[in-house]
Amino acid sequence: MRQRAARDQQRLDSGAVTSPKDLESLQREIASLAKRQGDLEDVVLEVMERRESAQERVTELSDRVSAVQAKADDATARRDAATKELDEEAASVTREREVVAGSVPADLLKLYDKLRVQQGGVGAARLYQRRCEGCRLELNITEINEVKAAAPDTVLRCENCRRILVRTAESGL
Ligand SMILES: [Zn+2]
Repeated sequence: MRQRAARDQQRLDSGAVTSPKDLESLQREIASLAKRQGDLEDVVLEVMERRESAQERVTELSDRVSAVQAKADDATARRDAATKELDEEAASVTREREVVAGSVPADLLKLYDKLRVQQGGVGAARLYQRRCEGCRLELNITEINEVKAAAPDTVLRCENCRRILVRTAESGL
């Protein structure tokens, strides 16, 4: 379009076109081409502006993706650290349990393991201030008297939940 406008302008300037009608027509065409070029430049400008704003949006979204990714990485790292800690704790508790279990008579250990499975993972409970800490029920006076009369090595059971009762100085006897 520019070339055509330049060519028209050249013809006009050369003086080769002499007919007033042709001159007028040529001038009209030059004006029309100039207007069209202006319109196209406006379109190009608008497209460039839209491209720029789209580019800004891309940058903004990329930043947000990076931020979310960083948060996810952080959460993953914390989860992995917590898992490692729990695994180590579990291994340590398992070792401790093996040591303790080794000192418990076999038949008592068998009873304990059976009760543990039946009672949601807790096979023995502390007798604390006359209350079974397994089922939280207070022992009645008859039961307390039986506990009091029992020899120290007797395996006592809670009448209510059947767990092994462990006597301590705080049993309230
Ligand atoms: Zn109980």
